[in-house]
Amino acid sequence: MRLILIGPPGVGKGTQSALLTARLGVIQLSSGEIFRKEIELGTDLGRMAKRYIDHGELVPNGVTIEMMAKQLRADDVQKHGFVLDGFPRTVKQAEALDEIMFEMGIQLDKVVSLEVAEDIVLERLTRRMGCTRCGEIYHSKDKPPHREGLCDKCDSPLFVRSDDQPETIRERLRVFHEKTAPVIEYYARTGSLQRVDASEGPEETYAQICGTYAK
Ligand code: AMP
Repeated sequence: MRLILIGPPGVGKGTQSALLTARLGVIQLSSGEIFRKEIELGTDLGRMAKRYIDHGELVPNGVTIEMMAKQLRADDVQKHGFVLDGFPRTVKQAEALDEIMFEMGIQLDKVVSLEVAEDIVLERLTRRMGCTRCGEIYHSKDKPPHREGLCDKCDSPLFVRSDDQPETIRERLRVFHEKTAPVIEYYARTGSLQRVDASEGPEETYAQICGTYAK
């Protein structure tokens, strides 16, 4: 299975990719996560990416495409398939992905656009916390951890992303409308797009992605 999840920040791409990975065995390729790891490791790429991420801007296409091309060519990704979370985010990246996949002789199964009203996204982002170790995502109101500040699954401390501050969130949403919304239209034209209402819980959204949703 080769799948892309597109949607605004806070729509639940990370949560859905984690479910797809746990249940279907596909490899999660999250560009944002990969950048955050590089930042944590203090690499040149991480230092460069941080300057953009902290302002809610996109990291330049060239380095992002190069980084993701390397990930896509990894043996386990070729073997198990992938779910792309956060890439492509510009039409240039979508065109580059087409070329990479053409060279590799592979095709996408589907592109899912996760859609939700902006007030819900804002509410989700301002209350979001993640585990520093396993990446599990919490919400201070809808999914609080059992013990404050600690992950239920692995006991590690929780953190709030540096780009989940109100001003940066607003900029990330603006960038989404300007740069990423055209990517949704790009895939709509090729006919591989599935629009999913992500306003309900993770399981309802997951069932829609898998085509097993019954209301
Ligand atoms: P995310 O975890 O997907 O919300 O991504 C966090 C941040 O990483 C974004 O706001 C961007 O600054 C950067 N980023 C992630 N994916 C991309 C991408 N495909 N192109 C450019 N920048 C990206």
